Amino acid sequence: MELKICHIYPDALNLYGDRGNILCLRRRLEWRGVGVSVTELPIGERDSLGDFDLFFLGGGQDFEQQLLLEDLRAGRGESIRSAIEDGKTFLAICGGYQILGRSYKTWDGKQMDYIGAIAFETVGGRERMVGNFAFQCAEESGGSEVVGFENHSGRTLLDAGVEPLGRVLCGHGNNGADGAEGVRYRNVFGTYCHGPVLPKNPEFCDFLLLTALRRKYGAAELEPLEDREERLAHQTEMNRLMGSK
Ligand code: GLN
Repeated sequence: MELKICHIYPDALNLYGDRGNILCLRRRLEWRGVGVSVTELPIGERDSLGDFDLFFLGGGQDFEQQLLLEDLRAGRGESIRSAIEDGKTFLAICGGYQILGRSYKTWDGKQMDYIGAIAFETVGGRERMVGNFAFQCAEESGGSEVVGFENHSGRTLLDAGVEPLGRVLCGHGNNGADGAEGVRYRNVFGTYCHGPVLPKNPEFCDFLLLTALRRKYGAAELEPLEDREERLAHQTEMNRLMGSK
């Protein structure tokens, strides 16, 4: 078995160590003897996305998100939409999550029209939503508890019928109001969770890997790893956060 990972816009979208997610995906495959390759696609690169199995989009500041508009319109937006409809697996964080929706209007009034691959939109507020937070993934997204860090001005509202990735246990999530966190659409996992999220949440990481492997090979299982320390780190962070609630 092998997974081909594509890191879209590593030059523009990478906040709070988001790149660590790539390392985590790679290692958890290598440790199990599964083949893995990582390709970076910066702004302006016109390679097709057809060959890849798992995509990663990190977070960005409003400024960087604006820089992407032209590139998305020049074809990258369309190729991301087709990969999503084709059932490819995506992990999209914060700014990278926002660009999958219809639009993001910043707190100071800049309107950014995005790719509309998923039915939601984001509006910035003057007060940022910042801090460690936790949520529980919905059953169809593995059901695990996820802990990490959020820092966003954007409030995301999912259209009726669009499923969140999970429910907030502590912190703000999509908008600080309706208890929803992130989005799950086909095999897209959108979240506000930095951290980086995957090293802190090994169970969530394995769920993404399994989703991508099953999409590619039909049936797949992942051997358990000797990852007692990673799990302990996850639990310690969870307990610390929930204990201080
Ligand atoms: N610029 C976006 C916001 O403030 C996303 C921030 C991020 O990726 N951390 O909402």
